[in-house]
Amino acid sequence: MTTVLTPASPLTAADRCDRCGAQAYLRVVLLSGGELLFCAHHGRKFEPELKKIAAEIQDETERLTTVPGSASEDER
Ligand SMILES: [Zn+2]
Repeated sequence: MTTVLTPASPLTAADRCDRCGAQAYLRVVLLSGGELLFCAHHGRKFEPELKKIAAEIQDETERLTTVPGSASEDER
């Protein structure tokens, strides 16, 4: 398998929002090389700011609506 770029790995229940600790649905790769995770709520809230500093935004918020039943999944 030859891939040009490292494929973005899907976010899991182990990925948590940096702001509130909820399950993350957005991964933001910063131009500086760092990485931030946000829940759908904070992803939307900070979107205008993130777009200025992000090299890439992986948005999986659509999974919130397209996969009914999995939203209650929570590991402890
Ligand atoms: Zn959050």
